[in-house]
Amino acid sequence: MSVINESDIVLSLRNLGLVEGDKLLVHSSLKAIGLVAGGPDAVIKALIEVVGPAGLIVMPTFVCEPPFDRCNSATALGDVAERFWRRPDAVRSLHPTHSVAAVGYGAADLIAGHEKAPTAYAEGTPYYKLARSGGKVLLMGVDQDRNTTLHAAEAITGVPYLDDIKAAYIDDEGCEIIIPVTAMAGPHRDFIGLDRLFRERGIMRMGRIGKAICRLMEAGPMLDIAVEALSCDPAAVLCRNPACQDCIRQRGRIKAARLAEEDFHLAAVAGDIANDPAVVLETIKGEGIFALELTTVEYEAYRSLLQGEGVAIAAVRSRIGDERAVALAARLSVPLVVPVGTAEEFKMAASLAGKGINVLVENNGAPSSFYLEMYAGSYLSPGLALNPGRFAAAGEKPFLGIFYNGGLRKRVMRFYIDDALFDGTPALPGQGNGEVKEIISMLRCRGFGGTIALRSCNKGAAAFRQAAEAFWCMLENM
Ligand SMILES: [Zn+2]
Repeated sequence: MSVINESDIVLSLRNLGLVEGDKLLVHSSLKAIGLVAGGPDAVIKALIEVVGPAGLIVMPTFVCEPPFDRCNSATALGDVAERFWRRPDAVRSLHPTHSVAAVGYGAADLIAGHEKAPTAYAEGTPYYKLARSGGKVLLMGVDQDRNTTLHAAEAITGVPYLDDIKAAYIDDEGCEIIIPVTAMAGPHRDFIGLDRLFRERGIMRMGRIGKAICRLMEAGPMLDIAVEALSCDPAAVLCRNPACQDCIRQRGRIKAARLAEEDFHLAAVAGDIANDPAVVLETIKGEGIFALELTTVEYEAYRSLLQGEGVAIAAVRSRIGDERAVALAARLSVPLVVPVGTAEEFKMAASLAGKGINVLVENNGAPSSFYLEMYAGSYLSPGLALNPGRFAAAGEKPFLGIFYNGGLRKRVMRFYIDDALFDGTPALPGQGNGEVKEIISMLRCRGFGGTIALRSCNKGAAAFRQAAEAFWCMLENM
């Protein structure tokens, strides 16, 4: 196996495009380079030689174990960074989670006040200052997932999945200081996906140092491109791996933020998704949904879980005639939803409404003429929870025929997003004859502030996610 030395590295760095006076942030893997005579010190010396006395070398030096102590904490970011911050001429910023070390012209100014910046990597931080002063980023044998400056793009665009944390460092008097750090995300994101954009936009040069594939980017344009990508799509750096719980959860936060712009509230029917409350909660949060319709049995299983989860109860569901469900809905001050398909069932629902109970009838199997007839005969009547899928399955047009032109319009208090073909075959929302998209659109035009509950025709979390995907597809195309 061939061994490379300091002058080989100098040559490779110059070939990559580095020149004297460059301000360079370096993320590196010594192992990726291969055998280096002189080890990490040879890499560091080569970097310093190439940028010269007018240049600046910066390396992230995060630590694994809090609290961060800039005089003693070893970095978790590899041998080169570890040797680098321990150099007598290096200065190290005080930031508890995203500290950097710097050597060269302007090093002290670059690291100053890192701990006072609101985020770890945006305005006021060494990463941002370097990007905004013509600096470059070098990835030496590591990929874009290690490129900390890209996190600044998330903070700048304020993507909805960021969290605020508190973190500790030891100050120069030896006191532990705890500070807030905003705009933290992850753990997983897919920054690797930005590689192609950087290549296509011509801001990245590729080369090799030893065996290591290296990427050299102009930091300012790189940050601008990442900001542009996240401005167009806040999920631009989240992966699509259906097994990645991190990205599913973060996409859920984006969806929840999107739903907050709507007047309506989106809910789900727990029984459609799973019997296990933990699975249901994880599934709805991934879709940005924080409200559930529950049966009395489900309520008992969920009640301790719901506290602290921020999930509301949108309705109690039961078959007509369940006194416990009536009592629970009254106690929680939420509607009681009962599926109704016969005159007997409707009369029982009407009798509950007559007693002042907030009862909603979900059309279940009968045609609209049946419900019209039932409503015609009752004065204090239950509201209608319109399920367009069930009406479509009865061969009717739920929007034009029933809601828009029919007599049931003023009875409708709640909408289900459920769809089917005229022949009764269940369909994904917006992909059947239920005129689901037309209904959602009309509700949005009117500023409907009530609940829309997303149902899935097939039971199970995967089927629910499919139905949700169809819903989101409709919403994003309105
Ligand atoms: Zn992921």
